[in-house]
Amino acid sequence: METYRSLLNKQKSFFKTETTKNVGYRIEALQKLRTAIKKNEKTLMEALRADLNKSEFDAYTSEIGFVLEEIRFTMKHLRSWAAPKKVKTPVTHIGSNSYIYPEPYGVALIIAPWNYPFQLAVAPLIGAIAAGNCAIIKPSELTPKTSEALESIIKEIFLEEYIAVVQGGVETSQALLNEPLDYIFFTGSVPVGKMIMESAAKHLTPVTLELGGKSPCIVHEDANLKLAAKRIAWGKFTNAGQTCIAPDYLYVHKSIKDVFLKQFRETTLELYGKEPLKNPDFTRIVSERHFDRLSSFLDNGQIFMGGNTDKERLTIEPTVLTDITWEESIMRDEIFGPLLPVLEYGDLSEVIEGIHSHPKPLALYIFTENNNIQEEVLNKVSFGGGCVNDTVYHFVSPYLPFGGVGTSGIGAYHGKGNFDTFSHQKSVLKQTTKFDIPFRYPNVKNGLGKIKLFMK
Ligand code: NAD
Repeated sequence: METYRSLLNKQKSFFKTETTKNVGYRIEALQKLRTAIKKNEKTLMEALRADLNKSEFDAYTSEIGFVLEEIRFTMKHLRSWAAPKKVKTPVTHIGSNSYIYPEPYGVALIIAPWNYPFQLAVAPLIGAIAAGNCAIIKPSELTPKTSEALESIIKEIFLEEYIAVVQGGVETSQALLNEPLDYIFFTGSVPVGKMIMESAAKHLTPVTLELGGKSPCIVHEDANLKLAAKRIAWGKFTNAGQTCIAPDYLYVHKSIKDVFLKQFRETTLELYGKEPLKNPDFTRIVSERHFDRLSSFLDNGQIFMGGNTDKERLTIEPTVLTDITWEESIMRDEIFGPLLPVLEYGDLSEVIEGIHSHPKPLALYIFTENNNIQEEVLNKVSFGGGCVNDTVYHFVSPYLPFGGVGTSGIGAYHGKGNFDTFSHQKSVLKQTTKFDIPFRYPNVKNGLGKIKLFMK
């Protein structure tokens, strides 16, 4: 197995020079990255088209534009985030002051998946750079054109000892994980996430795990059905459902199920065309293996809409399956494709019970005009993050840290959360030498009595 010790050592030596600790250097690096992405926009769009048939609109909004915005936001706030913060000091510590110094970990490894192959590699890189780390990126082997474009952008602007891209599959990933890294940021599936954590344990390397799971979407009886249909169809079928926070399945109140589904069909046809298989801009399924896996679910329940596939072009129509129960195979794991199973409910308690008896989801969406119902769901159900009366949109706010909980992930990023993830918060007490309060020392007369006045 190839080893990456020499690359790691080069980066560790570069880190030791303290060049990356200079905030001006980090801002300059972010600016370089921003300029290079803009310059290579066309190449990136072509690569995303070749790998996944992503339209220019999707490529810009969900990959390129998203990343440019994250860089802009980070550059604007970086000096204040990176400065040591003065915090309060308790009366027991009279004479001293307390500070938190954010410091970079060192060399961070970023492992990315294929579904948003550019964004999910570069967004964590922004955090790593902002916090002052060196970084090695291992992009997905399933999107070779985008990984190639990413590598050439990074090579063009950064020295290998600062930021490097290492291409390859599982073995490459494992070889990198064998090295004593300072931080691991992984985005991908739950089973691989577990392996990453196991590898990290060998060197006690801290990790962020951005994983997946089945994210529920609830449509209550009083929801604005027209808007719900549009926002759910968009969140589900963008990128052909290959989005970690796409609504995985629907829970629809039985009193409005028929009206809602009719509206949903109309909206979906408006968004993706009457013959989505012929829509040149509909994203394809990443591989034949995933295409076959998804196709095998088409006999679950009843097909309410869609259901047609084109194996040659690896495309599957936006599909809705009704008469679904938790027993069906489509309900076992994360779907990650344009198939939407629908469960119905009469009482909200059935929904909460259903979600509670499965692993904690990465996202949850609830459509209702009723504040009490919103609060009940938000307070009773644990999930990574989500929206009330929308889908997916929480992901693009730099003010909302994004991440999972339980099996959907550990840690969060985006905006300041991205900087914080890649920084160790070093707590420092600066003590006075002008006087010395004696109570803490064991030889003070009645020291314990005095200490008890403060520590009670
Ligand atoms: P994956 O886990 O198969 O692969 C992700 C990365 O890990 C790839 O770079 C791959 O080369 C590497 N890898 C695969 N097997 C490995 C192993 N045994 N050891 C070390 N590295 C290994 O995931 P995927 O199929 O590329 O992506 C889809 C999954 O990612 C879905 O489960 C989805 O929910 C999740 N995801 C999560 C987020 C998030 O932000 N939480 C975003 C996108 C995707």
